[in-house]
Amino acid sequence: MTSLRGDRTTPSALVDAAPVMIWSASAGRVCTYFNRPWLDYRGRMLQEEIGSGWTQGVHPDDLRRCLEAYDANFQQRRSFQVDYRLRRHDAAYRWVLEYGAPRFTEHGRFMGYVGACVDIQDRKIAEQALEASVTELRRHKEELMEFAYGASHDLQEPLRTVASYAHLLARRCDHQNDREMVEFLGFILSGIKRMQALIKELLNYSSLLEGSSTQITDLDCNAIFEEAMFACQAAAQETEAVITHDSLPMVRADRAQLVQVLQNLLSNAIKYRKPLERPRIHVSAANEGEEWVFQVADNGIGFETQYAERIFGLFKRLHGGEYGGSGLGLGICKKIIERYGGRIWANSQPGCGSQFFFSLPKA
Ligand code: ADP
Repeated sequence: MTSLRGDRTTPSALVDAAPVMIWSASAGRVCTYFNRPWLDYRGRMLQEEIGSGWTQGVHPDDLRRCLEAYDANFQQRRSFQVDYRLRRHDAAYRWVLEYGAPRFTEHGRFMGYVGACVDIQDRKIAEQALEASVTELRRHKEELMEFAYGASHDLQEPLRTVASYAHLLARRCDHQNDREMVEFLGFILSGIKRMQALIKELLNYSSLLEGSSTQITDLDCNAIFEEAMFACQAAAQETEAVITHDSLPMVRADRAQLVQVLQNLLSNAIKYRKPLERPRIHVSAANEGEEWVFQVADNGIGFETQYAERIFGLFKRLHGGEYGGSGLGLGICKKIIERYGGRIWANSQPGCGSQFFFSLPKA
C-alpha cells in the first residue's frame, strides 16, 4: 500500500479518477454535477448534461421507468437501484446500473442525491444468453416429457394385445400338457407384467408435465397418511409392518400428488425391509420456520450414504434382483415436491434403516 502522506489530490480530482460514473442532484431534483468518467462515457460537456440534459442519453424505452424510479425514491428519500440503456460517445446504447443515495447534512437536512453508475453491458448480454438457454432447455425438457407421455401411453395398447395372446397360448399349452412351453410363456408373461408396471410409472411421471392440471387445496396430512396407508395395505399386512405417525400438519398441495409421495415412500420402506425383521416405519413432521419437514423413517436394509442423491434420479436402483420396481418412484416424489418449491433428500447406512425427508412451504 502506498503512503497517502504528501498526497495533495483534491476530493474533486479523486472523484474524477474513480473508475465509476458519478453524479449528484440538488434537493430540488436537478442534476448539478457529473464526474469526468461520466462525461467521457457520454462524450458530452458538463453544461450539456446538468439539469435534465442527461435524460437525452437514456434509451427512449427505458426513460419512463428510469424517471419513475427517481421520482418515487426522491420523494421517500430512499436509496435506489435502477438499470437502463445509456447512449455512449460512439452512439451505442449500453446497459448501465445506477445506485443513488440521499445526502443529508450532519443536522439531518436533506441535500439531494449522489449516484454511482457502472457499465453492465457485458454482464447483461451474458444474463440474456443464459436466460435464453434456460428457456430453450425448459422447452426441450417439456418436449421430452411429452414424448415420454405419448410413447408410454401408446405402448400400453400393443402390450395389452401381446399379454392377452400370451395368456391364451399359455392356457392352450397347459391343456396340451406342454410343460416346457408353459414355463417359457410364464417368463414372457412376467416380462410383460414388469413392462406394464414400468410403463404405468413412466406415464405417471410424464403426466407431471409443467402446467399440467393440479388442484391445490388445504390438506390435512393425517388424512393423506391414511389414504397412502390404504394403498399400501396389502404389502403392510403381508409383512406385518408396524406403521405409526405423529400428528401431521395442514399443507397446501394437490391431494392425489401428496398421497402419491407418501405412498411411494411407505411402499419403499416396506419393500426394502430386512429379511428377518418386521418393518417399523414412522412418519413425522417438524416445524422449520417457513416450511414443514416431513420424515419417513424405516428400519430396513438401508443403503450407502454416497447414493443418497442418485436414488432420486430416473431408473436409478441400488437393489435390483429380488426387489421389483421401476426405479421411478423417488423420481416422481422429487418432481412433485419440487413443484411446490420443496426439497426431498435421504439419510441412510447399510443395515441401519433409512430416513427420507421432504419439505413443503407452510400453507
Ligand atoms: P424402485 O423402488 O422402483 O426401485 P425408487 O425410485 O422408488 O424405485 O427407489 C430407487 C432406489 O432407491 C431403489 O431401487 C432402492 O435401491 C433405493 N431405496 C428407495 N427407498 C429405499 C428404502 N426405504 N430403503 C433402502 N433403499 C431404498
